Amino acid sequence: MEKHDVVIVGAGPAGLKAAEILAGAGKDVLVLEKNEIVGPKVCAGGISTKCKNLGIPKNLFERSFDSFRLLRSHHDIVVKYNKSVGYTIDRAVLGTYMRKRTEDNGATIRTSSRVTSITKDYVVCCGKKIKYNYLIGADGSISTLRKYLNLPTNKIGIGMQYLVNQETDYVMGCFDHKIFGSEYVWIFPYKKSFSVGTSAKLGTKNIPELRKKLDSWCKKRGIDLKGAEFQATTINYDYQGFKFGNIFLVGDAAGLAFGFSGEGIYSAIVSGKIAAQSIIDKNYDYNKDISKLLKHKRLQESILPFLEQEHIRPILFEFIALGLRTRLGREIFLKFFA
Ligand SMILES: Cc1cc2nc3c(=O)[nH]c(=O)nc-3n(C[C@H](O)[C@H](O)[C@H](O)COP(=O)(O)OP(=O)(O)OC[C@H]3O[C@@H](n4cnc5c(N)ncnc54)[C@H](O)[C@@H]3O)c2cc1C
Repeated sequence: MEKHDVVIVGAGPAGLKAAEILAGAGKDVLVLEKNEIVGPKVCAGGISTKCKNLGIPKNLFERSFDSFRLLRSHHDIVVKYNKSVGYTIDRAVLGTYMRKRTEDNGATIRTSSRVTSITKDYVVCCGKKIKYNYLIGADGSISTLRKYLNLPTNKIGIGMQYLVNQETDYVMGCFDHKIFGSEYVWIFPYKKSFSVGTSAKLGTKNIPELRKKLDSWCKKRGIDLKGAEFQATTINYDYQGFKFGNIFLVGDAAGLAFGFSGEGIYSAIVSGKIAAQSIIDKNYDYNKDISKLLKHKRLQESILPFLEQEHIRPILFEFIALGLRTRLGREIFLKFFA
């Protein structure tokens, strides 16, 4: 039977980062990816400043921005900083870059290879059993590994977006509670296009209805959706644990995306790194680093119960909009998101 030190399910940012580090440390690593191409993923590609430490070269970014625009029914504020506060990246570009680094370090990435079942000793992929010493579940928000571990997933959102072939300059957040309730609409600009999208917790909203609301919001704002590609998929933010014996869950599979902003690239890469480090160094205390990641996630998600209350929502959004007119408010906002 084929056997590897580490088998990683999924070649998203979480799986590739873990593979890159493990292979760099001399481990025999196999990454199994169900798709034919590594990288493309339904994602707005927004990267916050905390990603600066992840070593993604700046020339890979589509755009960098030092301001964003905040819309409410009666506010249109441009919030400006004297530094870059975020970037956008094309997920295909990020995937190609990370794949190369991983393969250069000696890991094997096998595409068109869906893992269909898992046991405590081996995974089954394309009808073949593959044995592992360690297994990393980096297989996104509908994770086969998470299912195998029998973990519940109650906090899961659906993100939807249009890719519009027009240029725009601003990153935009629109908090219009009368239309979108507790959710917001984003616009993320790329070199020659932008994404406009929104999200909602599954089970709380009628999803086709939400899409219609997004369509009519775009129409009202003069955004022409003719020819724009519509995409949607899930985001898991229900963290239930990281290490289960010799099995690790990372990124969206672990529910490490941030529940309010929907940001997940950062925690995917960081958790991939932590899993790799835990396998390489038996004395490494992964709890400290996972707790750091969870601290920011939980801080951001602490706003969710308030947003779910209809009478508090407008007051909170109003408070944020007013706060952003002050320097202190802008700094707090940045800390909260980035
Ligand atoms: C609409 C939308 C917008 C978003 N915008 C942003 C944003 O602006 N910024 C941000 O930081 N995050 C954003 N996110 C979240 C972000 O996309 C994810 O958090 C991130 O991709 C998680 O990375 P990952 O490596 O954990 O999982 P993924 O990127 O999902 O990678 C998982 C990989 O596993 C593979 N796979 C799955 N099952 C199997 C299997 N059984 N066998 C083999 N392979 C398998 C998949 O094909 C995939 O390649 C957005 C999400 C959505 C839905």
